[in-house]
Amino acid sequence: MRIAPDTPLPPCHAPLSWGFDNSYQRLPERFYTRIAPTPVPAPRRLLLNQPLAEELGLATPCEQPEFTRMLAGNRLPHDAQPIAMAYAGHQFGQFVPSLGDGRAILLGEVIDRHGLRRDIQLKGSGRTPYSRQGDGRAWLGPVLREYLVSEAMHALGIPTTRALAAVATGAPVFREEGAMPGAILTRVAASHARVGTCEYFAHRGDWDGLRLLTGYLLARHFPQSDDGKPAALALLEGVAARQAALIARWMEAGFIHGVMNTDNMTISGETIDYGPCAFLDEYDPTTVYSAIDPFGRYAFGNQPRIAAWNLARLADALLPLLDPDPKRAMTFAEGIIERFPEQFAAEWLGGMRRKLGLFTAQAGDEGLITELLNAMHANRADYTLTMRGLCGASIEEQADSGIAQRFADETRYRSWAARWRARLRAEDTPAALRADTMRRVNPACIPRNHQVAAALDAAVIQDDLAPFRQLLEVVQNPYDDLPAMARLALPPTPSQRIRNTFCGT
Ligand code: AMP
Ligand code: MG
Repeated sequence: MRIAPDTPLPPCHAPLSWGFDNSYQRLPERFYTRIAPTPVPAPRRLLLNQPLAEELGLATPCEQPEFTRMLAGNRLPHDAQPIAMAYAGHQFGQFVPSLGDGRAILLGEVIDRHGLRRDIQLKGSGRTPYSRQGDGRAWLGPVLREYLVSEAMHALGIPTTRALAAVATGAPVFREEGAMPGAILTRVAASHARVGTCEYFAHRGDWDGLRLLTGYLLARHFPQSDDGKPAALALLEGVAARQAALIARWMEAGFIHGVMNTDNMTISGETIDYGPCAFLDEYDPTTVYSAIDPFGRYAFGNQPRIAAWNLARLADALLPLLDPDPKRAMTFAEGIIERFPEQFAAEWLGGMRRKLGLFTAQAGDEGLITELLNAMHANRADYTLTMRGLCGASIEEQADSGIAQRFADETRYRSWAARWRARLRAEDTPAALRADTMRRVNPACIPRNHQVAAALDAAVIQDDLAPFRQLLEVVQNPYDDLPAMARLALPPTPSQRIRNTFCGT
């Protein structure tokens, strides 16, 4: 018998427990809607992140045959309390008062091996009251893209949600591309609370709800914060610091998120919602890949400014709770927003110094870094390979020729390199230690757009996951020179270049 894609057979609770300890579900019912995933016809496990399963204490459950059905939403662990979270958000600058989890369901929270509380969510698990016109589903391409890129980000040391598993549903999902194979991603996050979650309550004038939420988020994500302050103020400062650090890491890695709407900006400071995201090949701050961003609002070089704009939306939402005196509340909010560019710049400068092998801070460092970036931009040099090349060049001047050949004007690189070497000599760091340290912050391989596209095509069109697994292994070990990197680390040839990435919702 063929089961229609979204036949609402209720999923049943299995005797299996995942060790959930759910705190968000203890918040008032208006924070979410209780809703179970919609079962799918033929769950098939595609990927399971074993080390992450172990970290979450799920190593034993994941050996059970039931586990795949649970990842598909056909069965529920008996301690799951499935909900769809309510949130709002500014999308491309426009406020949307009610978004919420339209195709994701939070099963619950576990305390991991390090004592950290982590959300476990199924993405693509069926309709919820927040689905609007959407089908609540995801298809294989975007699920694999999120799996790959989020795991690559983690390996690069960038705060991010994680991918625990990907399952095929056996049901088609209808998109512009046609009937695509359905899939579900199991996403793990420090929490799924977003700037848009706070905006949701503020827009409704639900100050009790917002007060509860800010207290909850402060305790969950910033337990060390100073208790003398109102929770909303400490939260805003905490989010500013985390986002300054996060966006600096993105800029250092050449990562473009693509859809920095306020509903895609977490309170925890993790990267979330990998849609049309991509990494730079050639260094160019105006780079935009997203097919849904024709004006380049979320271009690579705009990301720090957009983060500040999003933070201002969080400040707007929290304003009445920052201080009982509205004038003082405004002064606090403005102070935090105004400090953000400096906070970001300090984070970025620190990160870029590490990438250039500079262990101390000197006055001309920012100029030295900017000159290199400008030279790369003017010469369309590959960002990742240029930075990786510097690790070897920091020891051996001969390595310069390998880097210089990436610049149309070689002398531009060589004259920069002469100034860089003079700067390196101003420190007494042993050269081998410096090069080793640089090799741990300058990846040899990032998920190149054209390689991601090729791996997803093989998986979706030929049902062949081998290229995906190979690419995954390489981007999970970005600092090691693995043999497969000889090919996968290369920039695209002109015919391989991909100009557009799609959200794929
Ligand atoms: P995103 O672009 O993934 O950040 O999603 C923005 C909003 O649209 C969120 O509220 C999502 O839950 C919702 N959404 C995206 N895709 C779908 C879909 N296929 N079905 C239902 N809701 C969706
Ligand atoms: Mg989103």
